[in-house]
Amino acid sequence: MSGLEALIKRLRAEGVLSDPRVEEALRAVPRERFLPPRLEKYAYVDEPIHIGHGQTCSAPHMVVIMLQELELGEGMKVLEVGTGSGWNAALLAYLVGPRGRVVTVERIPALAEEARRRLKEMGFDNVKVVVGDGSLGYPDEAPYDRIIVTAAAPEVPPPLVEQLAEGGILLIPVGGRYYQDLLKVEKVGESVRRKRLMPVVFVPLVGRYGYGGG
Ligand code: SAH
Repeated sequence: MSGLEALIKRLRAEGVLSDPRVEEALRAVPRERFLPPRLEKYAYVDEPIHIGHGQTCSAPHMVVIMLQELELGEGMKVLEVGTGSGWNAALLAYLVGPRGRVVTVERIPALAEEARRRLKEMGFDNVKVVVGDGSLGYPDEAPYDRIIVTAAAPEVPPPLVEQLAEGGILLIPVGGRYYQDLLKVEKVGESVRRKRLMPVVFVPLVGRYGYGGG
């Protein structure tokens, strides 16, 4: 069995992977394509992997949990904060399909550039990679049906709630620098509902609504 199939089997057995479309996306978007060449062999180990600049490509189980909680549908517009390797952006692009759109914001230009190149090479032309402070969102293309933040914040950045469409879902790890709670924020009419999903560990979000000094 290939490393990918073994990982899929394990994530299903653990009860982590339950959505067949997310499973399809894992097969369609090979994680090794988004890792530095010497680390490709670890692509199907269920751990975060260093991608340089002090950043990581999230562990497969965490990516699966977040993709499932996002309840993505074809044609949706999604904002991702923290492009990193571009792997999650590619999975999002696959899941919203050619009629959907993904805008992903990364503060480190070299990572953004590399992710842009990979996504283009792989034919994902429904993704736009933007260099900037994603804690401010990306108002130019708001509102978004879904927003996913793949770095940890001290609080939910107000611009992200503003840029979330009515009925939209925002996923974000919130808490201290070293461990956080994954929050699911839903905008229903005038009210904003927050649900705590699980304890998580992410690299810090820096910028205006992130942690200082990053
Ligand atoms: N989704 C990524 C994992 C990213 S790790 C993947 O699939 O590989 C988190 C990323 O968030 C890092 O690349 C980091 O540079 C970026 N980041 C941190 N603060 C940010 C900010 N304010 N705006 C945009 N990107 C930010």
